[in-house]
Amino acid sequence: MTEISSLGEFKLIEQLTKQVELKNPSSVKGVGDDAAVVDFNGKQVLLTTDLLLEGIHFDLMYVPLKHLGYKAAVINFSDIYAMNGKPTQLLVSIGVSSRFSVEQIEEIYSGIYLACEKYGVDLVGGDTSASMTGLTLSLTCIGEADKDKIVYRSGARPNDLICVSGNLGAAYMGLQLLERENTIYKTQKDPDFQPDFAGKEYILERQLKPEARKDIIELFAKKGLQPTSMMDISDGLSSELMHICKESGVGCRIYEDKIPIDYQTALMAEEFNMNLVTAALNGGEDYELLFTLPLEWHDKIKELENIREIGYITALDMGAALVTRDGQEITLKAQGWTAFEK
Ligand code: ADP
Ligand code: MG
Repeated sequence: MTEISSLGEFKLIEQLTKQVELKNPSSVKGVGDDAAVVDFNGKQVLLTTDLLLEGIHFDLMYVPLKHLGYKAAVINFSDIYAMNGKPTQLLVSIGVSSRFSVEQIEEIYSGIYLACEKYGVDLVGGDTSASMTGLTLSLTCIGEADKDKIVYRSGARPNDLICVSGNLGAAYMGLQLLERENTIYKTQKDPDFQPDFAGKEYILERQLKPEARKDIIELFAKKGLQPTSMMDISDGLSSELMHICKESGVGCRIYEDKIPIDYQTALMAEEFNMNLVTAALNGGEDYELLFTLPLEWHDKIKELENIREIGYITALDMGAALVTRDGQEITLKAQGWTAFEK
């Protein structure tokens, strides 16, 4: 018997899907990217799904229900944007135990509707069931894209520039803060306990109410910019970069001093005595976009707001590494999602 923890998430998915053979001509891309791609008479459709489980992906002690609904929708939209597509329809399936009231479920939906409104997506269906084990949310998003605009993880080539949107590590530090205050609350048993969130609104928002980078996709269209590869950063920069390298058959170098980090993230890491770069490399849930651009964009990237060049793609045999401030090279590791680890 093989324990799931000995494989980890990525190897498990690989094991479960390695025998898949795409038989329908309409199945353009199956397992292995942010979304699947299907072709209906020349129109390309994107498909992605995400499962959120109480106790694994969220703790209702500190996640407001409306935020949970909003985030569940947004992280699906993010996978469609990560293919350079536009999310258009959403399916929502929920499993609820009897400890939830109708009002509470409506609260989750108010967040889902808010996200749909903001990103221009239609809720078109789903499924509802009773649950023995708390709250389960499963969302499936459908999107569209022009065939020649879709960006896969596999298109990075040596000398391409590696870029990220926004900043990294903030959602992770927000989670650390929420967990710390929750632990204090549980151990003090003081009904008047007030968490210490002053001046930390940004990192909390990044954790509780993330946004998908619709604006960056729109910027690509406006500037005529076509990334060679792209994915969203849900599991941490290090792990996502390794996916791009693996799928593209290349290596990479990224620079420690070029990784964009927000001031509140830095302060929080210091307060927790955590290595800031580790948080930015391995902390997940930022939902920023990681993408590669042809070298000739080097000078123009500086003029683009919210986009930072952090390194470049190399030949495969160079491996994937971080170059530290003092010029040392540290091999990147895929931390990724570790829920199976004990
Ligand atoms: P993301 O973080 O972008 O949502 P995942 O790491 O969850 O991507 O999934 C990676 C790829 O594996 C995707 O193409 C996804 O559709 C596929 N996948 C994940 N779990 C399964 C599964 N149980 N069966 C088949 N395919 C899966
Ligand atoms: Mg993704």
